[in-house]
Amino acid sequence: MPDGSGSWNVILDNIDMLLKKTNDIKLTIRCNIDKTNKNDYQVLKEKLKTKWGEHSNYYIYPAVLRDHGTDHSSQCNFFSNQEASEFLLEESIKNNQVTYFSLHPPGCVATQLNSYLIGPDGEFYKCWNDLGRTDKVFGSVFTPYKINQKFIFDYIISPSVFTDKNCQDCVFFFVCEGGCQWQRLKDMEENKPISTCVFAKNQLTKYLEAYYSQKMAKKKQDFYD
Ligand code: SF4
Repeated sequence: MPDGSGSWNVILDNIDMLLKKTNDIKLTIRCNIDKTNKNDYQVLKEKLKTKWGEHSNYYIYPAVLRDHGTDHSSQCNFFSNQEASEFLLEESIKNNQVTYFSLHPPGCVATQLNSYLIGPDGEFYKCWNDLGRTDKVFGSVFTPYKINQKFIFDYIISPSVFTDKNCQDCVFFFVCEGGCQWQRLKDMEENKPISTCVFAKNQLTKYLEAYYSQKMAKKKQDFYD
């Protein structure tokens, strides 16, 4: 809060209000995770379930934090790709939510043509990581005909899973979003590739075994019900 006090209760009260008022808005709560709070995620999840259990229109998910301030995302409190992969698989197993890979088109806000972020002064950005960076502004709601189109197309099509040789040869091609486009662009500019691969790739066998066990357990359960 501007006066330095915490915003926890304010956020919870606001969510409370929203959930009581309508079922029409699906609320997604992103919980940022790194090594320092990885054990708190489950606790928070249980707390929120106790609080809002009867509401089905909210969903909480763990978002693995990345260190965009350095060249490597495995430093200090940040997970390495392997650690992130292990954490996410463990969480899915604990919650019976190991999902099978599904076909979906690659992309996020950064790679979709009509998705933008609008800053407090009406300025346009293409990615959350750029918010507040004046060198990443490509237009404004106040001057809609003055848009830096090259900037947009850099984000949308250059580079992409479709042109990346590793992706073309990868078994995950049709089920992977190709990872963070912001990171891909950064890597291209700096010529320092960092893996943007889907976390499950780090332990595919474990992942598939967990999915199989979960499916078998459910079948058994259905049989006895
Ligand atoms: S897992 Fe990695 S190599 Fe495979 S399609 Fe995704 S980004 Fe490309």
